[in-house]
Amino acid sequence: MTSSRQRSDYKLRSEDLSSGDDTPVFSYFQHSLKNGAGIIVDVEPVTKVAVIRCDIVSEACPGVGCFMAFNKRSMHFKDYDENTEMVAFFTCGGCSGRRIYRLLKSLKKRGVDVIHLSSCMQMENYPKCPHIDEIKKTVEDAGIKLVEGTHH
Ligand code: SF4
Repeated sequence: MTSSRQRSDYKLRSEDLSSGDDTPVFSYFQHSLKNGAGIIVDVEPVTKVAVIRCDIVSEACPGVGCFMAFNKRSMHFKDYDENTEMVAFFTCGGCSGRRIYRLLKSLKKRGVDVIHLSSCMQMENYPKCPHIDEIKKTVEDAGIKLVEGTHH
């Protein structure tokens, strides 16, 4: 049986289609949105993670290890469920991590939940990051959860 909402939507749709309006579909969606129908919502909250990595190392590393660990939910990503997305993967911008503050501001607006510092920023067989403490502080000051490491 057709509900009254479905009937009224159908009526409006018919009117739109016969009104000579050259954008009937758009008009129908406008009506649906106003009435709470057709709005796409996330049913489950998504955990959004991002990775900051070393700009110097990025010249030789495409980031495969970080992505493999994330995709397999291993190492420092093991506690995330399937409802987790990698929303950003970016370099610090070079010493002294000059891009991080600006990019975190942007990511915060987009609801990022956790920032990982890549393993290469912290491992001994990579160039030692002389700014790691300031970088950590920048993340913490932004009020975003920090995890040290990705795939090691
Ligand atoms: S600030 Fe650290 S992570 Fe960034 S390029 Fe310099 S050494 Fe690498």
